[in-house]
Amino acid sequence: MTQSFLPYARHVVDEDDIAAVIEVLRSDWLTTGPKVAQFEQAVADFVGNSHAVAVASGTAALHAAIAAIGIGPGDEVIVPAMTFIATANSVVFQGGIPVFADVEPETLLIDPDDVEKRISACTKAIIAVDYAGQPCDYDVLGEIAKKYRLALVADACHSLGGEYKGRKVGTLADLTVFSFHPVKHITTGEGGMVVTNSVELADKIRRFRNHGISTDFRQREHAGTFYYEMTELGYNYRITDIQCALGERQLAKLPQWLERRRTIAGCYDELLAGVTGVSPLGVSNDVRHAFHLYVVKLAERYNRRQVFCQVRDSGIGVNVHYLPVYLHPFYRERFGYAQGLCPKAESAYEHILSLPIWPGMHDDHVERVVKELCGVLP
Ligand SMILES: *Cc1c(COP(=O)(O)O)cnc(C)c1O
Repeated sequence: MTQSFLPYARHVVDEDDIAAVIEVLRSDWLTTGPKVAQFEQAVADFVGNSHAVAVASGTAALHAAIAAIGIGPGDEVIVPAMTFIATANSVVFQGGIPVFADVEPETLLIDPDDVEKRISACTKAIIAVDYAGQPCDYDVLGEIAKKYRLALVADACHSLGGEYKGRKVGTLADLTVFSFHPVKHITTGEGGMVVTNSVELADKIRRFRNHGISTDFRQREHAGTFYYEMTELGYNYRITDIQCALGERQLAKLPQWLERRRTIAGCYDELLAGVTGVSPLGVSNDVRHAFHLYVVKLAERYNRRQVFCQVRDSGIGVNVHYLPVYLHPFYRERFGYAQGLCPKAESAYEHILSLPIWPGMHDDHVERVVKELCGVLP
């Protein structure tokens, strides 16, 4: 029997998700109708914070967050070297300068000591990234932010459903950003959300997603007026009712999916415990990990590129997250960044491998991944 290719991540869409989308297609509002507000409220309730604003993508959510805290030309924002490019790009969108901090080798989370070293008179904010789904050390990052009067943004695109010292991701920073891309915990196709306890920041983000206009179409219809004013520069970063109906159904299944992710991670931990040369990343006792990714480090003696190709050829969709952002040609050319800026992130990048993890995976899939991985290690 030929075995199917196992991707590193995959969405789960059930019949009830499909029915919810069809219902919206038959309704009066395809975009910015009742479903957007309902999905926002559901996410706010889930994370236990006051305001949630849904937008077109996680990247749009990051951009909106960075704009809302007033980042502009010349402002520096500290971001980890080990993240998806969009974290740093959001700073560049506003004319700011991403300053890269190195990561802790055990967890690949931003190193608070290195953050403090890279603060200058131009620093305005820190973006923490909950790499792989493990929340950062928010108590320490919060103290640094307070001491230097910086805004703290959480890029929680990996960690929806995670916890830090019993507090939920979504309540740990001034603004928290989620993504609903199909590889993430729940999906709306494309989509994102900003969560905050500040009504001012939430209102700014609502305007930012709608061209900088202070009312939306439905509010004007309701008030019987055509008149609107644009008070600041914004974008069309709106999300549709079609997407938010899907998001609502997905969110209802998140608790069981988180459990499944944690179970799969536990299976990997057990199966890999006896394998020399393959070490899972460290997990702090202070957190509940959300396991967007399950990342292992290969011993120095292995050629990661070769292992990657051989495991792929065996039908296992391993992946690598990520090349340190500043090593991308754009960042080298625009900001003059070069090899050596964050040595721990660079060295980790040479040895990491993301193994498949998503809630629809079966136990025998997990065993197959470990068998194929071990099979190619010389
Ligand atoms: C997925 C992701 C984003 C961007 O989200 P999109 O919805 O794809 O725009 C940003 N940061 C991190 C860490 C991500 O994983």
